Formats: sequence, structure tokens, C-alpha cells
Amino acid sequence: MPNDAGSATVMEAILHDQRTAFLRDASPRIAERKARLARLRVAVLSHRTALCKAVDADFGRRSYYETDLMEIVGVIQAIDYLTRNLHRFMRPEKRHVSLVYQGGRAQIIWQPKGVIGVMAPWNYPISLVMIPLATALAAGNRVMVKPSELTPRTSSLIQTILAEVFAKDVVAVILGGAEVGAAFSRLAFDHLLFTGSTSVGHKIMQAASENLVPVTLELGGKSPVIVARGHVTERAVSSIVFGKLSNAGQTCVAPDYALVHEDDLEAFIARFDATVIRTYPDGPTSDDYASIISDRHYERLNALIEDARERRARIIRIGVRPETAADRIRTIAPTLVVAIRSDIAVMREEIFGPILPIMTYRAIGEVIDLINARPRPLALYYFGDDDADRRKVLARTTSGNVGINSTLIHVALDDLPFGGVGASGIGAYHGIEGFRSMSHAKGVFIQRRWNLPSLLRAPFGRLADIALA
Ligand code: NAD
Repeated sequence: MPNDAGSATVMEAILHDQRTAFLRDASPRIAERKARLARLRVAVLSHRTALCKAVDADFGRRSYYETDLMEIVGVIQAIDYLTRNLHRFMRPEKRHVSLVYQGGRAQIIWQPKGVIGVMAPWNYPISLVMIPLATALAAGNRVMVKPSELTPRTSSLIQTILAEVFAKDVVAVILGGAEVGAAFSRLAFDHLLFTGSTSVGHKIMQAASENLVPVTLELGGKSPVIVARGHVTERAVSSIVFGKLSNAGQTCVAPDYALVHEDDLEAFIARFDATVIRTYPDGPTSDDYASIISDRHYERLNALIEDARERRARIIRIGVRPETAADRIRTIAPTLVVAIRSDIAVMREEIFGPILPIMTYRAIGEVIDLINARPRPLALYYFGDDDADRRKVLARTTSGNVGINSTLIHVALDDLPFGGVGASGIGAYHGIEGFRSMSHAKGVFIQRRWNLPSLLRAPFGRLADIALA
């Protein structure tokens, strides 16, 4: 049930107050923007321990250190990056004035859009609220945030700590589930940034279209990892294990499935198995191995494995032990599903868990065709040192981002735009692209002195002939 803050009337009132406040100060100066970022930084750092503990409790188990590294560090780095680069981002951009218009000046002013809505998922419940929020504040906006209901302790703590440092007409947090999310997405924001599933993304865009609200959609999908022939190296497999098993695979840019040359299949399986055992010596009960967020997702993932078993795929579960206490907090052992057909469930839907299907190939062209026959992924990973093949993959596939000989790290680079394409999303944030997505690029022409176009008025006679001469 929606709580009080999540009722449509209350949300509309908050939006109204934020817009009124925005109109009073529609272009906050750089010092004010930096002060807001500094307040956000202090809020996160002073509640660092509580935030990491809240995520741990919401998941059932997620290592304090994993949250600290993968979320808190990322948020602080993003805030520092925005603060350092704000002056450059805000600088008006000079544009070319062709000969006939000389005497005038053209520029783009990056104007705050107004009130931004931010909707976040549960998988990185701190950073996927805080980084869009920091970006929106840097761009001079007011912000309404709707975190996920699946991490209730974290979301409610975020509400409390943001209320400590921001007046409600600068930042407001709305708590609630899908019903509240639906009402939130119908509000007449000046921009809406949604992070979540592709299926809900459709609904968000539909709702936003009612008020012509521009959207950034950060969605999911099946991100492939290609391992070049003969490239089953220690470094490659360690990086794939890191990308697949951080947060137990509940990462939007986790490698979803692997494409391995048929001659390398057994070597890949053996190395993956050895790397997992080395990295998580206590199997799914290891301290750094996260639980699955909810019973529904736990059952969904087990059903994917069951479906693969029924279809006679080869299934390798790594580090499984007899029933342990950890099993009761929804852990799923790292699982490889080998040599599968593409119509199997685990190859149809986004996995979002510690299951890695492996498909084999004979030539790189097959891999490119297979990827292009599917919806465009959020990330694509290529492990190999063959420049020609790497160039072919880069040029002939389309994905939000690409990691070469690396997984996940591209998201941590503050200066790279992060976003999807096609079914994996619309628009991007991080980098200057984030600042610009939450700013209006206002083109301004200033007529400074007399020139031919400044005399333009009827009767037009043969002015067109002169202009085209
Ligand atoms: P979700 O789409 O179920 O929920 C996201 C947000 O939308 C939540 O705040 C939720 O309350 C709200 N919501 C749910 N149903 C709604 C509805 N019918 N109408 C309006 N709002 C609704 O996603 P999730 O399960 O929280 O997160 C997992 C998904 O998010 C995965 O698909 C993952 O790939 C994707 N994801 C993408 C990124 C990215 O940056 N591209 C990052 C993390 C997660």
C-alpha cells in the first residue's frame, strides 16, 4: 500500500513546491550547486556504515565491504568528479556563425531543466539513487526520488539522511512500490531518469509521454561476453568471474552469457571452476557472496536451472555443499549451463543471478550474427588480443557500452557516458553526457550590430536569390 508520502496528491504537492522554488531560483550559481553536492557527500559519508548495513539486511546477506566498494566509493567519486568539472560543464558553448550572419554571436547555455524525477531499482540501491541525484543537482535542478521497495531499510534510510541535508523543495524522497512508481511516473516532471527492467521501462515511457516528459531509461538485457579463440587466460576468466558473481550476478552490466570457441570449452569450464573456488573458498557461504534479493527472484533463478536440466543442458554447480544455513538466506551456487540452444529459457530472458550459460562458436562472424539477432545489449565484453576481430566486433555490433579485456569497470569511469541502446535503454548519464541530459541546451543568438539578415522583412522580393547566390 502506498504510504502517505506516496499518494498522488502528496506527490503532486511536492512537485508543485519544487517547481515554485525552482522558478524563484531558476539558475543556481556554481557555488550553490557545489554546496549541494558537498552536503550530499557529507550525508553519504556520515551514514556510510549504516547504509552498508542496511543493504546487507535488505539482501539477507551482502558483504559490507562489497557495498562500501561498489556503491559508496562510486558515489563519492561521482560527486567529486561533478564538483571538479562543474565549471567546465556549465560554461556556455560558442557556436559557429556563418558569414552572412556575422555581426551576431551564437551560443548554447546549459540551463537547468527544473524538477527531475529519479526512479531506482534494488540491485545497487544506494548508488543508483545517489549518482543520478548528484548529476541532477550539479545541473541545477530540484529532484524527487523514488527508490525501490525491495530494499526497504536502505530506501527509508536514504529518505532520512537526505531530509537531514536538503529542504523538501530541493530533494524529496517518495517511498512505495509499483503502484506508487506508476503514479510517480505520471507526474509532469521536466525530466525523468528511470533505472530498472525493460518491461517496466515501457510503462514508464508510456506514462511520461502523457505530459511529454523527456526520459532517460537505464534498462537491462542480456550482455554477452565473447572469449576469443585461445584466450581462456587467467586474467580473462578472473574478470568474467568478477563481473558475473559480484552481487551474485544481480548487476545490470554483468556478463549474462558467454560465447566461447568450441575448442576452448573444456578449458574455459575448468578455469572458471578453479577461479570460483579460489575466489569464494566457502562456496555460496563465503562472506563476499551475496544473497538473492527476494523469494520471487530466488524461485525464478532456480526455475531457470530446472528448465535447462529438463532440456538436457549440461549443468555445473560450483562449490555446492550439503544444506547449510546460508541456503536459507537465498543463495544460489555459481552455475554454468553448457552447450545450450538459444530457445532455452536461460537464453531468452535476462538472468540477473549467478548462472552463466555458455554457447560455443566456430568463427567470429557467427558470434556477431548471434548478437545482432537479439535485442541490443547494455554491455558487450570482448576478451582477446586479435586486433582485427576486436575491430570487427566493435564496428558490427551495437551495445550501450563495451569492455575490452575487462568487465564492469567501464561503469566506474566517471568520464564515460553510461547507458543502453534500443531495448537496453535510451540516453545516458555519467560524464558530461549526464550533466547535459539534465540540462536544457538553450541556443541563443545575439544580434550585436547591423548585418544583412538584420534587415529582413517584407517585401521579400528576390532576397532568396541573393541569399543563394
Ligand atoms: P523494476 O523495473 O522492477 O523496478 C524499478 C523501479 O520501478 C522500482 O523503483 C519499482 O518500484 C518501480 N516499478 C516497478 N513496477 C512498476 C510499475 N508497474 N510502474 C511504475 N514503476 C514500477 O526493476 P528492478 O527489479 O528493481 O531492477 C532490476 C532491473 O533493473 C534489471 O532488468 C536490471 O538490468 C535493470 N538495471 C539497469 C541498470 C542500468 O543502469 N541500466 C542498473 C541497474 C538495474
